[in-house]
Amino acid sequence: RIHSRSRRSKRASQSFVAADRIFEMNLADVMGYAPDMQVIDESLMETILTHRQAYDESRYTVRDVINALNEYPLSLEGLKALLSSAAREFLEQIAQRAKEETFKFFGNSVEFFTPLYISNYCDSDCTYCGFSAHNKISRLKLKAPEIKKELESIARTGLKDVLILTGESSKKRDLKYIGEACKEASALFSNVGVEIYPLNSDEYAYLHECGADYVIVFQETYSPQAYAKFHLGGSKRSFAYRFHAQERALMGGMRSVGFAALLGLDDFRKDALSTALHAYLLQRKYPHAEIAISCPRLRPAVNKSEISPRDVDEINLFQVICAYRIFLPYANITISTRESPKFRNGVVGVAASKISAGVSTGVGTHSNGEKKGDEQFEISDARTVAQIYESVKKLGLQPVMSNHVYV
Ligand code: SAH
Repeated sequence: RIHSRSRRSKRASQSFVAADRIFEMNLADVMGYAPDMQVIDESLMETILTHRQAYDESRYTVRDVINALNEYPLSLEGLKALLSSAAREFLEQIAQRAKEETFKFFGNSVEFFTPLYISNYCDSDCTYCGFSAHNKISRLKLKAPEIKKELESIARTGLKDVLILTGESSKKRDLKYIGEACKEASALFSNVGVEIYPLNSDEYAYLHECGADYVIVFQETYSPQAYAKFHLGGSKRSFAYRFHAQERALMGGMRSVGFAALLGLDDFRKDALSTALHAYLLQRKYPHAEIAISCPRLRPAVNKSEISPRDVDEINLFQVICAYRIFLPYANITISTRESPKFRNGVVGVAASKISAGVSTGVGTHSNGEKKGDEQFEISDARTVAQIYESVKKLGLQPVMSNHVYV
């Protein structure tokens, strides 16, 4: 059971008081909201947490996997089978089915985009992230003319889809800053996304007016207990507020919303199941929305070189991405530069439909600005847009710079 709202708000508001108190917080806090956080219907979250808890992958057998591969469309039980360890020996068949589904909905197109980090200041304390408030890194918040220069450099590569990123912040005055960046971006790009701290629906509506048309929020892990362990303080501490971000974005008029679990933090099979179910159920509630899924794995970061994705090896990751594709044939699945060129080449066209290119996770690195801010994590694929464009073409696929036009 989730605690009553009044108790929750009181506890959550305490989490912004002092760093030493942050570490004393218990589970009730991550299920809480700060006073200015909009609260919406929580039944979707309760459904997903119930499925997550009940999912015992060891109960699924080879027979269940074979049945799942013959199911059109794949059921939730089928998804649970395809995410289980019994499915690992069926990787070839799973990839074939995923490829079939990808082709049905996306043909041979692969969409391109790049992230643009405009600030690496952060008020939250996430143990795995280079931007974490207590991590000693070089911080930079780009000014409006610098953002413009960065956007212009990116636009010159031919890209038409840009994703604006920042650290977390509870300071609402930053919203106008992000809004101005969206306005600038929408003058040069057909699609503008934001991957920033979760907002209320009226704030998403404001960013939509400024030109943003999609919102990505990774839940990181769908286990509230694990979430509490990795997110020690700051505005990101609220699991519940973060969970409902995509729905608030759709309420605010956004066209598309993206989901992910950061694989390697907790039980990846349970987290993958929860991510897929979250996307699926929200799609049922908002049939007009475009749904997107990312598949990030943990990477080393500045002063956090020991971080690894644990049991999420490339084979397990590939299995998860294919299972996402089979369960959500129409979802836009993104593969980031956290993965190597070889892995990315292998997964586009089979299950992924969107790829980032010309990536930097630092601040001020696209144009030749004097100041630079440190990176959020290390990337594995530093190829330029032109190089990735060519390699996608060599795979017999069609690079697409934008798949959506506003008229
Ligand atoms: N501050 C925003 C944007 C973060 S960037 C937020 O927290 O949502 C997007 C994602 O990068 C994060 O959601 C997290 O899943 C991922 N990330 C953070 N540290 C990482 C690391 N060390 N390795 C891989 N991905 C990481």
